Amino acid sequence: MAQEDVFKKIVAHCKEYGFVFPSSDIYDGLGAVYDYGQNGVELKNNIKQYWWQSMVLLHDNIVGIDSAIFMHPTIWKASGHVDAFNDPLIDNRDSKKRYRADVLIEDQIAKYEEKADKEVAKGRKRFKEAFDEAQFRATNPRVLDYMAKRDALHERFAAALEANDLEELRQIIIDEEIVCPISGTRNWTDVRQFNLMFATEMGSTADGASKIYLRPETAQGIFVNYLNVQKTGRMKLPFGIAQIGKAFRNEIVARQFIFRMREFEQMEMQFFVKPGTELQWFETWKKTRMAWHQALGFGQENYRFHDHEKLAHYANAAADIEFKMPFGFKEVEGVHSRTNFDLSQHAKFSGRKIEYFDPETNESYTPYVIETSIGVDRMFLSVMCHSYEEQTLEGGETRVVLHLPAALAPTKLAVLPLVKKDGLPEKAREIVNDLKFHFNTQYDEKDSIGKRYRRQDAVGTPYCVTVDHDTLTDDCVTLRDRDTMEQQRVRIDSLRALLEDKVSLTSLLRRGAQIG
Ligand code: ATP
Repeated sequence: MAQEDVFKKIVAHCKEYGFVFPSSDIYDGLGAVYDYGQNGVELKNNIKQYWWQSMVLLHDNIVGIDSAIFMHPTIWKASGHVDAFNDPLIDNRDSKKRYRADVLIEDQIAKYEEKADKEVAKGRKRFKEAFDEAQFRATNPRVLDYMAKRDALHERFAAALEANDLEELRQIIIDEEIVCPISGTRNWTDVRQFNLMFATEMGSTADGASKIYLRPETAQGIFVNYLNVQKTGRMKLPFGIAQIGKAFRNEIVARQFIFRMREFEQMEMQFFVKPGTELQWFETWKKTRMAWHQALGFGQENYRFHDHEKLAHYANAAADIEFKMPFGFKEVEGVHSRTNFDLSQHAKFSGRKIEYFDPETNESYTPYVIETSIGVDRMFLSVMCHSYEEQTLEGGETRVVLHLPAALAPTKLAVLPLVKKDGLPEKAREIVNDLKFHFNTQYDEKDSIGKRYRRQDAVGTPYCVTVDHDTLTDDCVTLRDRDTMEQQRVRIDSLRALLEDKVSLTSLLRRGAQIG
């Protein structure tokens, strides 16, 4: 099946099974805004818990906060967002569709890579066992041609971004003969800058309302609380402040479902370090964050680092962690070395001294910052994309199964009475009422047992137990594994011990700590 079709199926599945709904659905939706349903909110909360615990629980020098979405408007002046939080946009005159110029060019770069990869795949097919990929890449004229084009474009693009040269960005689009995917034409407007912040007013106009912004990132809430946390928590460098919360960006092109939303959620951690040690910490955090992703078991080959083409005005090093989505490798998380830019700017604009007194050297200085910033929704999407599978079983029957990591699954265990009589429902409820205190356990008695298994597979429930007539005398149930569909007879009083470790976050956190 084409990857595009797979993606469409995942989007439809998210709606059908109560994971993600379009916002304001009965009013035909609102562009790039989504609601999480009964299963979606559980999965999302579990992702947030996995992140929060890996930061705050496992590091005794990281604490959390929850700052307000509305903040003093000067904060966004100081941070550079009012003047520079822009995306370069371009319109196609025929389709009247708007695009991000940088994204059009990035897609073109990816196309050259894909073409080279296709040649490699052809070579592998032709030469079979004797195929030497490194040699093929170094010598095949077609591959060399595509990679040379890619590198030249990459260089030109990076230079244009660095110089903030909008005309050059347009010229690249023209020279590369990039067409609008809708109209198929090259009838492009000029490239213009567009500020992504939403603004609103606080206070009534009579007493002088002031313009305030909906925060486009949670990070600034951490920077402006640096002094509060450092002093009240008596924190010593290096230390981190973590936060999970909503962010808002008026994205020009909102496509690809929850990948790019106008209202979304971020999990950010700012790690304050001694100046001069930041690049070492940057490497440490890249490694730690990659380990957190890889502990989920989605396969190392599905992740890669991508160094930024252009560093933001505040950064001296930056890398994205990309995940292979059905529409290519895409950014899920950014790790940024933000220097002392933010704290210095807030010191300047607020007039406060924002420094750290180092008891070891008896000096005061402005700490440097390493940021790890991940979108909850993009993480959710990557989990969904990797977990979704349409399986053909022996005998030709099919099932849709979500292979969610058990610790993230909305429901850990479904308890199913074989029939709705003979005391089986009561026995099943007894099991639920005991286990629900330990993990998310659901009772389900509607439809045939086969249909109930399929329903639980489709929402990613890792385990089901069936209560049958024998249960009433032997106190045993049939435990079914979602992925292998294997069944085993187990004692009811052993269920908790059997499952708790598998479905809790503990083993996931432990695995992440081991890899890192
Ligand atoms: P992009 O280049 O895709 O616009 P970005 O580099 O602007 O992303 P950051 O500002 O580094 O993103 O934000 C950190 C993280 O927040 C991203 O890695 C992503 O997971 C998430 N994120 C950013 N913008 C959005 C959005 N519009 N919708 C959903 N998640 C987002």
